[in-house]
Amino acid sequence: MTKHDLTGTIVAAHGRHYLADVDGEFLQCVTRGKKTNVAVGDIVHLKRTSNDQAVIEKIAERTTLLYRSDQYKSKLLAANISRLFIVIATEPSFADDLVSRALVACEAAGVDAHLILNKVDLEPNLARARERASLYTRLGYPLHEVSAKTHPDDTVAALTPLLQDQSSILIGQSGMGKSSIVNLLVPDADIAVREISEALDTGKHTTTFTRLYKLPAGGTLIDSPGFQEFGLYHLTEGMLERAFVEFKPYLGGCKYYNCHHLAEPQCAVLQAVADGKIAKLRHELYAQLLHESAQTLY
Ligand code: GDP
Ligand code: ZN
Repeated sequence: MTKHDLTGTIVAAHGRHYLADVDGEFLQCVTRGKKTNVAVGDIVHLKRTSNDQAVIEKIAERTTLLYRSDQYKSKLLAANISRLFIVIATEPSFADDLVSRALVACEAAGVDAHLILNKVDLEPNLARARERASLYTRLGYPLHEVSAKTHPDDTVAALTPLLQDQSSILIGQSGMGKSSIVNLLVPDADIAVREISEALDTGKHTTTFTRLYKLPAGGTLIDSPGFQEFGLYHLTEGMLERAFVEFKPYLGGCKYYNCHHLAEPQCAVLQAVADGKIAKLRHELYAQLLHESAQTLY
């Protein structure tokens, strides 16, 4: 270590521009060469090149890593996340395949997944939303009911203990109330975004970048714009079947040891689907993901 060597956390990424927080000071960072393998949440070793700029020398070993789908320039969504919250709502209607894809990404990465059902004040759709969400609670994923708009204090009280001492990320389809929840949890989020945007110096002051906030009660929270379509192509078939937690009791029971659980005879997973022990919706998504990963392999 020389006196120029610093350690920081990546708090925002926009294209190949990164911002690191080094003991509360923001430094604009670049990677060496054309590497774009840095993610928000990464702990990085830096060499300062000017007053507010640095080069990323090394990325510390990650505890977890979440990938995004190929349509984004950077394939890395967030590093060192311990907990992911999927925000769903009574209305508009949420998409089951997006929820399950996020859950699969969490299982594969070793990230703890929770659901937040927002807008429980909208009672006409509440029973239906709860029933749909029960698909996930039956699998063991915790669900937290909140109403960010009508019961902000209760929302903060319900979520704060879950965020303390965790490195969390909040995701959700647009309209579910993710921004409302972030604004409650991070009271000065607007100021932080403006500061980060200026420090990132992206040219235009965009707010569409993934950023990491420090929470007042401890812990960190990553907010990512739009719904993150997770990149699941890196999952092998073995990882994929294990990422569907409800398949686990049946995986040893298939006739063929290399069973794909698609159409094979005497498949314990297919039998469990037929018996109603595995939701058809989930098995269909498994088949779809297997198909997608096979297409990228060949
Ligand atoms: P985002 O797109 O997920 O970031 O959602 P927003 O936070 O922008 O919220 C979308 C809309 O839902 C806005 O009109 C909010 O005022 C509204 N909203 C957010 N939370 C609640 C809630 O708990 N109850 C009701 N009724 N509306 C909410
Ligand atoms: Zn099988």
